[in-house]
Amino acid sequence: MTDSRNIVIIGGGHNGLVCAAYLAKAGRKVTVVEAAAQVGGAAATREFAPGYRASVAHLLYLLDQEINKDLALESNGLSIAASGLDTVALAADGNHLTIGADSVEGAGLSSEDKAAYKEYRRFMSKFAAVIGGLHNQVPPRITYERNDLITLGKLALKVRLLGRDDMREFLRIAGINIHDILKENFDNPLLKGALSMDALLGTFSGPRSNNSVFTALHRMSGNNAGAAGAVSIPAGGMGAVTDALAAAATRAGAEIRTGSPVKQILMDGMQVSGVELTNGEQIAAATVVSNADPRTTIMDLLGARNVEAGFARKINNIRAKGNAAKLHLALDDLPGFKGLSQEQLGQRLVIAPSVEYVELAFNHCKYGEYSAHPVAEITIPSVHDSSLAPDGKHVLSAIVQYAPHELGAGWSEGKDAFMKVVFDLLSAYAPDIREKTVASELLTPQDLESEFRLTGGHWHHGELALDQFLMLRPVPKSAQYRAPVDGLYFCGAGCHPGGGIMGSAGRNAANVILAK
Ligand SMILES: Cc1cc2nc3c(=O)[nH]c(=O)nc-3n(C[C@H](O)[C@H](O)[C@H](O)COP(=O)(O)OP(=O)(O)OC[C@H]3O[C@@H](n4cnc5c(N)ncnc54)[C@H](O)[C@@H]3O)c2cc1C
Repeated sequence: MTDSRNIVIIGGGHNGLVCAAYLAKAGRKVTVVEAAAQVGGAAATREFAPGYRASVAHLLYLLDQEINKDLALESNGLSIAASGLDTVALAADGNHLTIGADSVEGAGLSSEDKAAYKEYRRFMSKFAAVIGGLHNQVPPRITYERNDLITLGKLALKVRLLGRDDMREFLRIAGINIHDILKENFDNPLLKGALSMDALLGTFSGPRSNNSVFTALHRMSGNNAGAAGAVSIPAGGMGAVTDALAAAATRAGAEIRTGSPVKQILMDGMQVSGVELTNGEQIAAATVVSNADPRTTIMDLLGARNVEAGFARKINNIRAKGNAAKLHLALDDLPGFKGLSQEQLGQRLVIAPSVEYVELAFNHCKYGEYSAHPVAEITIPSVHDSSLAPDGKHVLSAIVQYAPHELGAGWSEGKDAFMKVVFDLLSAYAPDIREKTVASELLTPQDLESEFRLTGGHWHHGELALDQFLMLRPVPKSAQYRAPVDGLYFCGAGCHPGGGIMGSAGRNAANVILAK
């Protein structure tokens, strides 16, 4: 039954759509089968209350500009509602800090901290570019073959080209924790707390956890037009990016079928032969590409019996404990955040008063509890984009950490209590938030798992850390987007270079398939 021309992509998340678009542009016959009623995965914009829309992933800072250009996202409908957003580090007394691309302002900030911030941005941007330079590379295998050696050599050269002092500093800090680096550079607690969030959102780590400098660099590593880590908001929410990707893929000839969950990947001997949907329909294909996370792909869809036991064990051991909950509020009117103008309400707002506060917030989740005093990244995208809410109304979108996937008390017990904690947190900064709220939605990591098929509710389909990066992602022997089964590939965030709305995993996977 194998159709050697057909390529089936399981999942129409942004990476699956990028992969589909590149393959279809190269003349391949591509069918995307997406379980949900709409494409986009965690980047889809959806109505969470009548007339109010939001997307789980809410800020754009990693989208690869080459992909944007190659797939003509603008002519396929993408427009940006706001770009170059500042980060406002919220203080309960209204004395906030405004953190921009190369300066920081606010009451109580010393001239030393202001100067140190410029230097911090200089070296972090430079180091982030080393990591960003790897995004569009297929990770090398550890062999003596020419291409692998060249790729490794290029990486070493990039590090060497940082210059002697910066290279030493890069090697010193890349594996250590963000708390220590912030302490070395700054005094102001609010500034340190807010900057630590760049390292921690979407991870199972606190400021003192190893690797947290690496994750901060990863967040800044995109080439999304502007300064390193520059943040923008797409008009229509993040779903506008995935809708434009879907349009590009369809224009190139790909077929996209929503409402089509895949039950299993079919095998003909040692070769993939297609997929079977939950309704029993079979689609023949000699190439199957999975945008689902690696564990789901191998353990649930392919079946561990079809791979070596050692490989299955490694896949099963991928660390993927989601910790981020997502809050959407439908607001009757703009909330009154103490000390913020309406213009500032449109910026990226962060609640992380100090690194010590953040570390304490993280501690809870190690023991299966949610934070008593969480941290949050908040946006009110409707300030820039009125299409997200009815006339004159607003949407608040917040990532709230730490909320572990495995809550000891269980989320059916814990969700209402956590919602109260979250409202108490927001009320300390915006006292009228409760009365302005007409509807709300809190997505715990378990909700994200069941609704969006994210194993563990994890942002990156598997923890982003040095031991799960580059040629170790998702696991050795499949880091080149190819599973150890003929015809099966990965293309999602669980592969190099990880999660975030970037598209590189999808494009790299397409390149590997096209080069075959
Ligand atoms: C709370 C939260 C907030 C985030 N905020 C941001 C942010 O502000 N900015 C940012 O850049 N990133 C953010 N992220 C990360 C980002 O959303 C993900 O890294 C990204 O969506 C991964 O894209 P993907 O295409 O690889 O996978 P996904 O978006 O997970 O898409 C995978 C798709 O595969 C489908 N699928 C899975 N199994 C099957 C099956 N059996 N059959 C058919 N289809 C299937 C799913 O339905 C889904 O549509 C956030 C993540 C979370 C959880």
